[in-house]
Amino acid sequence: MTAMKESLMRRILVAASLAIWLTSLVAEDKPAINLDERRAFGYLEDICKLGRRPSESEGMTQQQDLLVDHFTKLGAQVRLQEFDTPHPKKGTPVRMKNLIVSWHPQVKERVLLCCHYDTRPYPDRDEFRPKGIFLGANDGGSGVALFMEMGHSLLAIKPTFGVDMVFFDGEEFIFQRDGGKFFLGSEHFAQQYRDRPPPYRYVCGVLVDMIGDKNLKIPIEPNSRKFAPNVVRSVWDTARTLGIKEFVSKSHLHEINDDHVPLNEIAKIPTADLIDFEYPHWHTTKDTPQQCSGASLVKVGRVLLTWLQQVPENVGK
Ligand SMILES: [Zn+2]
Repeated sequence: MTAMKESLMRRILVAASLAIWLTSLVAEDKPAINLDERRAFGYLEDICKLGRRPSESEGMTQQQDLLVDHFTKLGAQVRLQEFDTPHPKKGTPVRMKNLIVSWHPQVKERVLLCCHYDTRPYPDRDEFRPKGIFLGANDGGSGVALFMEMGHSLLAIKPTFGVDMVFFDGEEFIFQRDGGKFFLGSEHFAQQYRDRPPPYRYVCGVLVDMIGDKNLKIPIEPNSRKFAPNVVRSVWDTARTLGIKEFVSKSHLHEINDDHVPLNEIAKIPTADLIDFEYPHWHTTKDTPQQCSGASLVKVGRVLLTWLQQVPENVGK
């Protein structure tokens, strides 16, 4: 090699490594986790503007349209899982629709993130207006707004597993204060998963319910600790590392029955429930966006998006 050729080669090598270094800087510059408190709160308001959203209602149909549009635009694969169930009062068939939003659908081992998206037909714990309009901002709306906000990051981050967000219908299609059949959507989803196994597998799940309270506190739910100890441990460890103190490491006083029970018992998917059950406006007309905050939604979002990138191999044990 002549001296001239050698110096040219050296210059090319220097230029190439500079280009690689610059590209890596640009890649690091782009934040993969993209969460915004105001946008998240805006989603919550949009959902509540649709009014009440019990199963088979006009509000529910509008919400389904809004979500299909939102997640399709963000690049997810969206499908509905439909089934009929008898109306608890009239006995006539009611069409239920679980909404399934898949990210990285080709990945065969997946994590299930879920919430319910129906609202209770009436605010039956309301002292003055038990037949009033129940908006369910925290109870029904908060999980939906959180997942809408998280949708901005799901294709940018590198999750350990594929991710499905599932919105359950019929969590509380309940018309009387004491009793009735809860968890219709999650029970159907769990039975289908057990009886007609799909070509992929859920390694674990996380359910969120009432995580929008502006005074958020999420203790460990005892059923979750029993069914999904490694999910609980890894999620709470992530929150501690991030310094998010709303995840408290003491337990709820009582076990909570929620959509995670059929997932654990029927589908055998180890699933933890993140729930703030101290919410003072539960099942009242006061469960409105004013009682919630975008900051709370984003804190839960940051924990979940970080956790999704470091889910331990033994999470399902
Ligand atoms: Zn409720």
